[in-house]
Amino acid sequence: MITVLKENATKQQRDNLIKWFEAQGLSVHVSKGEYQTVLGLVGDTSRVDDSLVEALDIVERVTRVTESYKAANRKFHPEDTVVSIGDVKIGGGHFAMIAGPCSVESEAQILEVAGKVRASGAALLRGGAFKPRTSPYDFQGMKAEGLELLLKAKKATGMPIVTEIMNAEHLPLFEDVDVLQIGARNMQNFELLKAVGKTDKAILLKRGLANTLKELLMSAEYIMAEGNENVILCERGIRTFETYTRNTLDLSAIPALREKTHLPIVIDPSHATGRASLVEPMALAATAAGADGLMIEVHNDPQNALCDGAQSLTPEQFDEVAAKVMKIREVIG
Ligand code: PEP
Ligand code: MN
Repeated sequence: MITVLKENATKQQRDNLIKWFEAQGLSVHVSKGEYQTVLGLVGDTSRVDDSLVEALDIVERVTRVTESYKAANRKFHPEDTVVSIGDVKIGGGHFAMIAGPCSVESEAQILEVAGKVRASGAALLRGGAFKPRTSPYDFQGMKAEGLELLLKAKKATGMPIVTEIMNAEHLPLFEDVDVLQIGARNMQNFELLKAVGKTDKAILLKRGLANTLKELLMSAEYIMAEGNENVILCERGIRTFETYTRNTLDLSAIPALREKTHLPIVIDPSHATGRASLVEPMALAATAAGADGLMIEVHNDPQNALCDGAQSLTPEQFDEVAAKVMKIREVIG
């Protein structure tokens, strides 16, 4: 971190600031130019509040050389992380498709969808049991019973399951769940992030509706700082002024995150677009752009789905998308 002082800073003020940095365990390299003095801070600057320093009378500006996320940072961990979920691997050249309904609705529904998406090449089964709905009057999910049904589908198909956890107190119910999903609305629920960070389960961390990539990485850092490094990032569209699509899919998040982090990156074209007709092109584009996986909503009867029917593919449509995705994977090798 570099702190540039204003020209009018007195020696006394400068020395006080240096002492203040040193008291925080940092060593300070002072370089005096003709007009300005630059303080180079060496050590763990992650706890230094840049805006506080920048607000000081004698400070012109503050520049960070390394980001405040460490565990998730590619600089300190150049190799791609491969997250293993049973026999399934994501990241570092391993690609996996996650498919299933928005919500678990019945045993027949989840078993049918699970069997079909597996046959089409999905490696992991998704399905919401605890649903974060905008309206309290909408279907809130089957909760514990939904988790039981997912486990039945896992037993029947052998597919590991991915499902959202909204409350750390529910963790005991999720004991047999393979991947804990942190939904977009909870990306900055720091207590929840810390709680799942204390588990050894894979975590699918979705980007918040209005969060930057840096904020997404800082949220991953919360999980990793507790000791759980099995974090998979998921871009699922962000809020923009456009209303035709449910959200706007930020595909540049793939190469941008790739530069910044070693964690696997999954794209969810279903929540990103909100429209079934747009899922295939976005799934193919994401694959071509180097995503490590896709998460796609699939329902056996989208028209009568209790949640997100408009963006859900039928198993037959998913089968076509999956076949095209695999062709793209072959091409980009
Ligand atoms: C979901 O995956 O069902 C979901 C609610 O997604 P998001 O948190 O991205 O809205
Ligand atoms: Mn959904």
